[in-house]
Amino acid sequence: MGNDTVHIIGGGIIGLCAAWYLKKEGYAVTVIDKGDLKEGTSFGNAGMIVPSHFVPMANPGVVAQGLKWMLNSKSPFYIRPRLNQDLVQWLWHFYRSSNHQHVKQAMPILYELNERSKDLYQELSSLENFDFSFEEKGLLMLYKSEKQAEKEAKTAEQAKKIGLEAEILDSKELGKLEPNMDLDVLGGLYFPGDAHLYSNKLMFQLVGVLKQKGVHFLTNTSVSDFSFKGSQIEALISENGDTIPVKNVVVASGSWTATLLKKANIKIYIQDGKGYSITLEKPKTRPQIPTILSEAKVAVIPMGDDLRIGGTLEMSGISPQINTKRIQGIKESIPRYYKNIELPFTDDKDIWKGYRPCTPDGMPYIGKSEALSNLYVGTGHGMMGLSLGAITGKLLSEVIMQKKPSMDLFAFRLDRF
Ligand SMILES: Cc1cc2nc3c(=O)[nH]c(=O)nc-3n(C[C@H](O)[C@H](O)[C@H](O)COP(=O)(O)OP(=O)(O)OC[C@H]3O[C@@H](n4cnc5c(N)ncnc54)[C@H](O)[C@@H]3O)c2cc1C
Repeated sequence: MGNDTVHIIGGGIIGLCAAWYLKKEGYAVTVIDKGDLKEGTSFGNAGMIVPSHFVPMANPGVVAQGLKWMLNSKSPFYIRPRLNQDLVQWLWHFYRSSNHQHVKQAMPILYELNERSKDLYQELSSLENFDFSFEEKGLLMLYKSEKQAEKEAKTAEQAKKIGLEAEILDSKELGKLEPNMDLDVLGGLYFPGDAHLYSNKLMFQLVGVLKQKGVHFLTNTSVSDFSFKGSQIEALISENGDTIPVKNVVVASGSWTATLLKKANIKIYIQDGKGYSITLEKPKTRPQIPTILSEAKVAVIPMGDDLRIGGTLEMSGISPQINTKRIQGIKESIPRYYKNIELPFTDDKDIWKGYRPCTPDGMPYIGKSEALSNLYVGTGHGMMGLSLGAITGKLLSEVIMQKKPSMDLFAFRLDRF
């Protein structure tokens, strides 16, 4: 049991899950966030819990595919070309990580992290005060082309090798799985073990329950610097000059973490992968199974009674700007896969955006700083932050309690590049 205090910078899913497990262990926890905890990256995402996402973003073939996508304004991927030292270094490490050896090492680790996180969310969903539409219906990857069919077949083989259930389905089998949908596809890869949840509900409920349990929230407070005593952080300094004395600090500031940690002389590599989502309330027709349209890289997710459609990964530097061409690309992809879907798309002002904190090797940063003895970091979960939130919170709590972590954290160390 801890009887110490912990300040967590960032009230996204990682920060809130860390707060949840630390509070359970008896810590006095304060969550500090520069926003109001109503609509950040952890709120409007696609809500998928994904043991199926065991292949890291850095993999052979991704560089060539990425370059092709860069030339298409409606494609799901874009890096705004610019001479920015952090971006150039990130790209270099990404290029170096995109090899078979890395994929082989990363696959079982990502699989285990996601599986264990899924179990923790299942546990959370059964507790009083939580009802965030957690469902275990699997994940369907629909494809239209022979080329994609080959890729998905290879993924299915890799999945089976690490013990993950994966089935290639033909149109008859897909019809049984999605009886209400008139599909225009060649086939599908189905991962029965995936789950999903309504991310906004989870976030609001976590904030509410944590407050009830005595976690203190400092919102609209941006931490801009630290003050040090020896090899420890002594206090946080807010943008408006307030000093907040601390004992233990968790930095879980998502896409902003690398910039903040520079103030502590710690170099980590994070680029923001901006993405968009559109939520349609109670549409007439919708798929039952969470689905990714494979070639388009668009997620189509039933959430409670609603339907959320999300996609695009743009590394363009954090900015609120919405790229309407890519939104158009997302909207146009839907009728290519579903012949009978009528989606009353709303105005572009209803488009939500979020920034995935992406590392060059597709592995998160989870652990303790070597340089500062009371600093802990949880970030860099890229496309899987929601999925990996619960396990990351648990692992951080174990490290702070100085217990042997229930998973080896070597792959997530801060100084690995
Ligand atoms: C379109 C889209 C779809 C996605 N779908 C999925 C999915 O289906 N499954 C999945 O697992 N993941 C998904 N993701 C990714 C997932 O949303 C992110 O990985 C996750 O939300 C990151 O959580 P986080 O807590 O690290 O960061 P955030 O949610 O960004 O939280 C960080 C918080 O830190 C605060 N902060 C930053 N700097 C400071 C500072 N200096 N002082 C105080 N506060 C600060 C910010 O205000 C923010 O609230 C998706 C993302 C997008 C964009």
